[in-house]
Amino acid sequence: MCIFLQHIEFHQFIKDEDARDRTANVEPLCLYKKSNCPLFVNMEEMYIKSVPQYNDMQRWFAYLRRHNANIFNVFFQDKESIRKDGIVATVEDVARFFGLPVPVLHDKCETIAEVMTNANAAECELYYNWLLMEKAGINNTDTLRLSFVHELSHQLLYQPRFLLFENELWIQELAADMIVGAFSTIDRDVATGKYKYILKQLSASMTHPDGELRALVVEFGRDYITHLKEQDNFNDIKDILTGLPAFVYSHYQELQDSWDKVKLNEMEEDADMECKPMDYESLPDTNLLKQYYLKHVKNKEDDNEHHG
Ligand SMILES: [Zn+2]
Repeated sequence: MCIFLQHIEFHQFIKDEDARDRTANVEPLCLYKKSNCPLFVNMEEMYIKSVPQYNDMQRWFAYLRRHNANIFNVFFQDKESIRKDGIVATVEDVARFFGLPVPVLHDKCETIAEVMTNANAAECELYYNWLLMEKAGINNTDTLRLSFVHELSHQLLYQPRFLLFENELWIQELAADMIVGAFSTIDRDVATGKYKYILKQLSASMTHPDGELRALVVEFGRDYITHLKEQDNFNDIKDILTGLPAFVYSHYQELQDSWDKVKLNEMEEDADMECKPMDYESLPDTNLLKQYYLKHVKNKEDDNEHHG
């Protein structure tokens, strides 16, 4: 029975996919590069010739694995080539979804992406570094879209303070990722696998909670929106946040332990900084401390010569 249902689902999926409007600036990339893996390419060519539905099957398998967060899916499968205009169009789409003005875009950033929120949403600035994004595994439009959903959620959450935990920044991050989860189910089923995998690689810091927990809240957002829809309580994307306290309280101990650890590390780093002797030699010659230090060294040498 299961196989029969999957068979129907497969044919429905192919029909829906063919009917879907495809973004002109996105092309799927070949699964294996010829130079890297000729064996797989030959196998792929052989299958394409011998199985008439080969390409449909590949799309179906991509659909089945779309929420799996594993390294193979992230770096080798379901990649698309994205051009700069594709990135801009994705940001515009996400801004439109939130009813926000399109942020001021900067394509230079020291991290993958950052947002500078503003009381006036029209002045919100979004920074991204496409090279770092691709390197991290943001290599198709679904994952790119979810990354920008996360960043623009911070502008959407400019006002609210949740006051659920002593580090409000962590809760704001969880809220943004919960919105990502909800977003991934709204218009169409947006693949979350790569996004969750990337999160899971990130450890907790002063500003961000542990990535494993962030990946969990994405899943929680997906489940919670279904619950809201069933109860006819879903009108706006922000409604998803009514579920945030439940997530925070059910992971409170985990959050607290992780936060205590981060604070401890931070204190140790501060203590290390205090104990380390200052390297005056490496300072520029114009630095007053260096000049004072060199004078002190010279006086000492003169003194030694004098006594010697
Ligand atoms: Zn964030």
